[in-house]
Amino acid sequence: MTTQAPASSALSGDPRFSGLFEAARALQPKTVALRRQLHQHPEQGLEVPATQAAVLHALDGLGLRVHTGEAVGSVIGVLKGARPGPTVLLRGDMDALPLQEDTGLPFASRLEGTMHACGHDTHVAMLASAAQLLAERREELAGAVVFMFQPGEEGHYGAKRMLEEGLLDVTDRLPERALALHITSKESSGVLRTRPGPIMASANSFTVKVFGRGGHASNPSDALDPVPAAAAMVGALQTVVTRRISVFEPTVVTIARITAGTTSNIIPETAELQGTLRTLSESSRETMLAEIPRVCAQIAAAHGCTTEYTVDEGYPVTINDDDVAARVHDLAGAVLGANHSSVMPNPLMGAEDWSYVLREVPGAMAFLGACPPGLDPADAPANHSNKVQFDEAALPHGVTTYAAFALDALR
Ligand SMILES: [Zn+2]
Ligand SMILES: [Zn+2]
Repeated sequence: MTTQAPASSALSGDPRFSGLFEAARALQPKTVALRRQLHQHPEQGLEVPATQAAVLHALDGLGLRVHTGEAVGSVIGVLKGARPGPTVLLRGDMDALPLQEDTGLPFASRLEGTMHACGHDTHVAMLASAAQLLAERREELAGAVVFMFQPGEEGHYGAKRMLEEGLLDVTDRLPERALALHITSKESSGVLRTRPGPIMASANSFTVKVFGRGGHASNPSDALDPVPAAAAMVGALQTVVTRRISVFEPTVVTIARITAGTTSNIIPETAELQGTLRTLSESSRETMLAEIPRVCAQIAAAHGCTTEYTVDEGYPVTINDDDVAARVHDLAGAVLGANHSSVMPNPLMGAEDWSYVLREVPGAMAFLGACPPGLDPADAPANHSNKVQFDEAALPHGVTTYAAFALDALR
């Protein structure tokens, strides 16, 4: 990906992409209208009936074969090109987050306590417009495009559920390439960023419950105090990262919540730690998932206490295929301009269930900058903030990138 200049210039004159950005711009009123409709009516989790209906409406009349999920509120649209060929998969996730919007936008969420703060409303709108754009160019396509509208990205394993419901079997050939875009307020508007290899971390949430014996705070020798045991665990877990994980393998353990006790003169019976583990490789993830309960149990034993440990399944590391990521970078440079495509120096330690799809299909995730005008990306409220805003002028860049990716794969 360091030698993007020759590839980009070779692609920029490619007639397959001529007029593509202009076509995406022409769809902008539709893209924005759908985005704002979803923004006003956000839905969380795996069941998103109003969003699902809006997607079905947007795809209506495009000549796609449409599947809806059985146990989840997904929509899959299949566009068959004029000639046979491979399958390419494009994803937009659909769900919102549990927080109260505070943007003051005229199309702000009308549902108290729910907000499209991760921009998934823009993903749906961009993917629906890409479907229309590609349907209009069906004659140019040799193969099929699968449009994956996914609920439940925010911790609900929606992508995994769609895989279990046969996402990859909707065409007779397994997808050969896949792309998901994610909007971000922390990058200049219209700039696409991706990288080869790991792009987002694995995420596991865990809980360690420490059991001791309660008593009077003035007489600790008569009790088994779980508080100092829990405190020792917090420090020890940081040491585990530096002693058990290679210095070249970024790993984060954060204890984000500690609870114990009721007042100042009682030694409580239990203490509880809650934390998150983030890694960029499955091997360091496995190591830490074994070390966290082992170290905590043995520290507890040293204090005469015991532990109970629980951990969720967690999202895997999101790993871009090197070649696909390089192609996305080059394509974005060609269709959006070289100054609108850049390589991320580092992955993000956030997580994505797109990781499940990338374990099955060579593909990529890329970030689309949408920092609001007049703001420095460094100062813009981030995704998941109650104040986050996205520049809608970036949406045609995403529509164009999705379409170019499919046209390129199905030539
Ligand atoms: Zn999110
Ligand atoms: Zn998201």
